[in-house]
Amino acid sequence: MYFCDHNATAPLRPESREAVIRSLSIGGNPSSVHAAGRAARAVTEDAREWVARLAGANADDVIFTSGATESNALALNGAVEGAAVTGDIVSGKGPVRITRLFVSAIEHSSVLKTAQHLADRSPGLRLDLIPVTADGAVDTEALRVMLREGKGRTLIAVMAANNETGVIQPLGEISRLAREASALLLVDAVTAAGKMDLDFSLCDYMTLSAHKLGGPQGSGALIVREGAPFAAQILGGGQQKGLRAGTENLSGIAGFGAAAKAVLNDGEERARIASIRDGFEKSLKAAIPGAVVFGEGSQRLSNTTNAAIPGLSGENIVIALDLDGVLVSSGSSCSSGKITPSHVLSAMGLDENLAGASLRVSFGWNSSKEDADAVIAALVRLSSRVKMRAA
Ligand code: PMP
Repeated sequence: MYFCDHNATAPLRPESREAVIRSLSIGGNPSSVHAAGRAARAVTEDAREWVARLAGANADDVIFTSGATESNALALNGAVEGAAVTGDIVSGKGPVRITRLFVSAIEHSSVLKTAQHLADRSPGLRLDLIPVTADGAVDTEALRVMLREGKGRTLIAVMAANNETGVIQPLGEISRLAREASALLLVDAVTAAGKMDLDFSLCDYMTLSAHKLGGPQGSGALIVREGAPFAAQILGGGQQKGLRAGTENLSGIAGFGAAAKAVLNDGEERARIASIRDGFEKSLKAAIPGAVVFGEGSQRLSNTTNAAIPGLSGENIVIALDLDGVLVSSGSSCSSGKITPSHVLSAMGLDENLAGASLRVSFGWNSSKEDADAVIAALVRLSSRVKMRAA
């Protein structure tokens, strides 16, 4: 099998698998004071350190969760409730209600749906989408104008890089605009983590997911700037300083830490993946004339290609390539038999036909040139089959 769908989930790294298995034998609760408890606690604290390093943050600010869907919900709900109750301790600002959520139109559904749900049930809180350019980057000029209008505190959510297109978002500028307006900033760094340097100091909240970088599924983190408005949403035991109760998922955390460490210790990984992806795009354009790579005018993660193949629908490509042992994904999703183009490509202003033809290929830690070649060969076979049928 040629697995070229790392942005959906990355295969488990050997280092992560080993850490998971080792942790399963510890048998202690990280909250217990005895030897087994202390051994378990050492594992969570070591992992916290590596995850913090991955994000450019302090270990003290890392909260482990069940994955980025929970992290995003925890950040949005925790910030809105926290702002109303405690305010911002470090800056000395007292409680100021968040009245506006500015969420980029290309966020993951775990951000978009949670923000919508929050706005629907919170009187005085409204949600506005920040538009993106045709190349898939958040329109900072539009955000600047949005921030100028209205009263009350704003919470902005913009991802570090988009999971469908790989487009890297202008976080430096967004952070500057947020600071000027005393707005809070949530960064979903799920796709970007390990594929570009992260700088937590640009934001107030950051979310991560272990399985996107070769760790286990069901393990993630939320990082909260010290003093940023935040109210715990899951109450119970005092785990994780009471910010997210529940006995820690020791094996998930151990695997997450090991995956973060592996990415950080492999200085050559990114360059290796970039050369596979760049070679893939060159071959794609040569082999399939008319192929369009989305977001090409923006800076993109060096592992992702999202392209339209003329005459083929994304769904059909995914199914046909799967039969050939080549695993990719499409930018469209099929629900109740109807194909809907991705909200990301639609937000970039692509027409339905082009967005529906989208194919996402994403490489990662165990990808090789053979994987890229297998995608091209399978696409060429499929294109010629389709052309023959049409003739
Ligand atoms: N954000 C982004 C950008 C994602 O791609 C995903 C996973 N598809 C999530 C959040 C949710 O992560 P998890 O699978 O860990 O819940």
